[in-house]
Amino acid sequence: MKHTIDNLPFTNSFASLGDAFYSKVNPTPFSQDSYLIHLNENAATLLKLDTSKQNTQRLTEVLSGQALPVGAEPLAMLYSGHQFGYYVEQLGDGRAIMLGEVSTDTSTRWEIQLKGSGITPYSRQGDGRAVLRSSIREYLCSEAMHGLGIPTTRALCLTGNNDEVYREQIETAAVLTRIAPTHIRFGSFETFFYRSQPDNIKTLADFVIKNYYPELLKAKNSYLELLKAVIDRTAKLIAQWQSVGFAHGVMNTDNMSIVGLTLDYGPFGFLDNYNPKFICNHSDYEGRYAFENQPQIGLFNLSCLAQALLPLMDVQAAKDALETYQQTYTHYYNQLMAEKLGFEKTDAKVDKLITELLEQMQQSGTDYTMLFRQLSLPETKPQELADMFIDRNSFNLWYSDYKNYFTVVNLNLDEQRKKMLLTNPKYILRNYMAQIAINKAEQQDYSEIDKLLKILHSPFDEHPDMQHYAGLPPDWADSISVSCSS
Ligand code: AMP
Ligand code: MG
Repeated sequence: MKHTIDNLPFTNSFASLGDAFYSKVNPTPFSQDSYLIHLNENAATLLKLDTSKQNTQRLTEVLSGQALPVGAEPLAMLYSGHQFGYYVEQLGDGRAIMLGEVSTDTSTRWEIQLKGSGITPYSRQGDGRAVLRSSIREYLCSEAMHGLGIPTTRALCLTGNNDEVYREQIETAAVLTRIAPTHIRFGSFETFFYRSQPDNIKTLADFVIKNYYPELLKAKNSYLELLKAVIDRTAKLIAQWQSVGFAHGVMNTDNMSIVGLTLDYGPFGFLDNYNPKFICNHSDYEGRYAFENQPQIGLFNLSCLAQALLPLMDVQAAKDALETYQQTYTHYYNQLMAEKLGFEKTDAKVDKLITELLEQMQQSGTDYTMLFRQLSLPETKPQELADMFIDRNSFNLWYSDYKNYFTVVNLNLDEQRKKMLLTNPKYILRNYMAQIAINKAEQQDYSEIDKLLKILHSPFDEHPDMQHYAGLPPDWADSISVSCSS
């Protein structure tokens, strides 16, 4: 049975934690009606939400913050965080409001959050709004990550409103509805550590364990096990980011999910040419969040979380847990990269092949996604691969070494290619693709969002009619600049 937006089975357990953890606040309606930009059927299915035509007007009202659905208990979550390395006490949902949680079955809960739905007690100087362009970027990228098999918050709906929003210029507003099992962040714990409120740390940890890590309930020290589990999930998540060439852009601890989801899409970017020093956020002058730094920043962020959890565990045990991060990360990363090359598992030789290939790609400015995809296609000739490098001889040497190693490990490259096609995407969300969708949307044409979602939801498929999005970015892509302004 499907639910309309007014008979969703709300459970709202986070709200039951008490007002130390959030502020109750309703969305602020716009001064004019909102319009539906896109409804993502793929995510609606997760809520068993009925999206048939006769319901879209009410859906638009509710998911733009104009009206509340039956059963909602709207709130803004409290959190702090380390931003660019420095602790900032006063953060929290400044422009996101959670309507509540919905449980469509016993095992899954989904928080429904409206981003850009007006001011909250945590808005500081902000206006509580989100502009159309950044909302489209988050909408597309969260679905792209899902398509790539990477844990992420999901995008359910995008509505627009012609009320003016002031950024560097006047823009129009949008509200993104995102859903996730939870939006709790590392920074949610940090607030209570810095306020010396260990009871609240415990309450929050108990909530997280009970709802998202129930397998740890029986553990001898479930809090330490929670830290270990978050370390593992975060290491795996970042390894997945690196393997597809994704740069998050603002890896502050308030943007780090306690359940290992990609969270809060801002000035993210996917690599075009392989450049480990890639900085996607034009406001990140020092490159703190450069692509190659992400794994190390993961450890910094986990150390902040571990510190916040210290009242619940032994210092040495927490340190020992953090010590495992590097090895865990490397294990996941090497395994993913081995699979991209068509091997079943990593070993010293495979690791060396990966390093050598990436070095050559860096020197030649080879497109990261295209090279791995070309490598996976049965029809690709070695010559075509070599053409992607400046120093073809070095590449040819690498390639014969690579091919030979399949015989050593008793595999057949041609057979492995079937699997490689399922791990090396043909399509990623390059900035210029999102920009095309944004430019059209600014002219009230939302068709590109839908077209892009089709390829991003199945990025390993061929989609012959969308071939134009599988090549190198056009020259004008260089002029796109993304910053924290959103
Ligand atoms: P972000 O960089 O989007 O992860 O946001 C960092 C912090 O600033 C969070 O506490 C946000 O809620 C808050 N924030 C960002 N933009 C706005 C805005 N337009 N109005 C109110 N708060 C905002
Ligand atoms: Mg954030």
